[in-house]
Amino acid sequence: MGRFTRTKCAVPYPIPPIEFNNPEYLRHHGWMLKALDLAEQAGIEGDVPVGAIVVDGVGDAIAMAVNRREQDQDPTAHAEVLALRQAGLVRKNWHLTDCTLYVTLEPCAMCAGAIGLARIKTLVYGADDLKAGAVRSVWNIPDSPLSNHRLQVIGGFLEESCRSQLQDWFAKRRQ
Ligand code: ZN
Repeated sequence: MGRFTRTKCAVPYPIPPIEFNNPEYLRHHGWMLKALDLAEQAGIEGDVPVGAIVVDGVGDAIAMAVNRREQDQDPTAHAEVLALRQAGLVRKNWHLTDCTLYVTLEPCAMCAGAIGLARIKTLVYGADDLKAGAVRSVWNIPDSPLSNHRLQVIGGFLEESCRSQLQDWFAKRRQ
């Protein structure tokens, strides 16, 4: 069996088979697929495809957002920042201490900072960003002296799906 099964559904990126029958893994898997779907839509609308979801401590999604930098002409309209703002509004509380943030791409310095400020409990992200990733690739803001908040990080979740989605989008743009 190969590393992936390219599914015949509408999504143009490969989804790997479920590898572990573990409730936490399955939960992350489900939300990351949803984040990939969101990102796909952002890509169609002309933005770099990145999707983010905030899930609360009981397992409900309280915010979903995509990168809207082009759509809004806002340099700070990254998926993570928009999702965190939305989550704070929904909660009427910016302390997101029981929440998990799912995002298809490793957060940049701005977003990694915002994730710390929001006191997010767990970050689950897909593709590493070798140019701007500020969680482990270029820099590590969560573990740096800048951060006084302990963040659990699960990096590289559905990494290949998230990376293919971005690579396909950039390849199409170059055509
Ligand atoms: Zn960012």
